[in-house]
Amino acid sequence: MKMENTKFTYEAAVKKIDLIGGVPIVVEAQWDGDSRGWFLMMFVIIRAEISEKLETYHLGNISLGGDIRLFQGTVPPYPEAALAEEIGNKLKEKYNLEFFFPSPINPDDNCPRWTEKDKAISCQDCNKLIIPTNSPYLPKEICYNCHLKREQNQRIINEERYDDGVTMYLFKNEEFHNLGYCSKFESFPIAPFLKDKVDNQKFDDVINIVTLQKSDIVKLIQDLENEIDKQILEYEEPQMDKRLSKFVSVTNVEYKGRAYKLMNRFNSKHELLSRLISSLDVAIKAREENYGYKIYFKNGITHRDDSVLRFVNYSQEGKTDINTINKRYEGILSTFQVEETLKKLEKIGCLTVNVSEVEITENGKNIV
Ligand SMILES: [Zn+2]
Repeated sequence: MKMENTKFTYEAAVKKIDLIGGVPIVVEAQWDGDSRGWFLMMFVIIRAEISEKLETYHLGNISLGGDIRLFQGTVPPYPEAALAEEIGNKLKEKYNLEFFFPSPINPDDNCPRWTEKDKAISCQDCNKLIIPTNSPYLPKEICYNCHLKREQNQRIINEERYDDGVTMYLFKNEEFHNLGYCSKFESFPIAPFLKDKVDNQKFDDVINIVTLQKSDIVKLIQDLENEIDKQILEYEEPQMDKRLSKFVSVTNVEYKGRAYKLMNRFNSKHELLSRLISSLDVAIKAREENYGYKIYFKNGITHRDDSVLRFVNYSQEGKTDINTINKRYEGILSTFQVEETLKKLEKIGCLTVNVSEVEITENGKNIV
């Protein structure tokens, strides 16, 4: 089913249910996903008046935002689920029906439909109803989410290396602005112009920071302008038919006093120009407002370090105590292992530990 950003409300559901007729006996909420992320589908099951047959009708979908959330360190409670619960419980009360929502915490498309509940088992780890997977690569006794959790725990136990990812910031005094994260440094549009600078850096530490000061930024601006001047010689106006214009947005950018229209997709030259010009804008802002750049590289961070840092930074909002950390890793890490991890993170400047108080530092924040 093609997902549209449906505005789904309790009132709309009531209207639809009343229109269908028969006796509504179940409202169910089920996760589904497409290229834009997870969304919830709501259904009603009706007992038809004369035949008494059960019939399922689609009521609508709930989709409230892209899955960009997943990349921001933690997944907050899904607002889709909260809305589905609110609507589902109101319908339950109005029609005295069953509200069936097998996965209210995490998106999961392996949950049973209400009509196949009998074939379902409870996940051994989280107790959620699931249809056991038929994939030969996945365990059958747990849900996919718990499988991922078990795997992640194993990486934490084994202290697997986790040095992927480079993050770039603008900074001035204690103020940091995130410019972006790339899994490889080369993916940043300004990477080609910083090659010498990065190649000359010794990456001896666990956290290595390449800093661009004023003179580097002046040179970066010059390099970016040269590159844009070269690329812009080949500039052509967007050519789009009606069908394509549905999928592409065109932005107006100004460069050296001239306006250009740039397509955001299906035109690699436009996409490159747009990335270069916005990198130039950032660099000019940095020069004018006295910002520097800091680029963070990791060399020796493990999943254990990363997990503890994320826990302190995101779920504890930067500050916690050792007991809370021990509780979080109960059954996964010993208190000795937690202590060793905190020592390492303190030594590399990501945390401060004061008796039992643990606080994240700017460097710690900037790598998770
Ligand atoms: Zn589970």
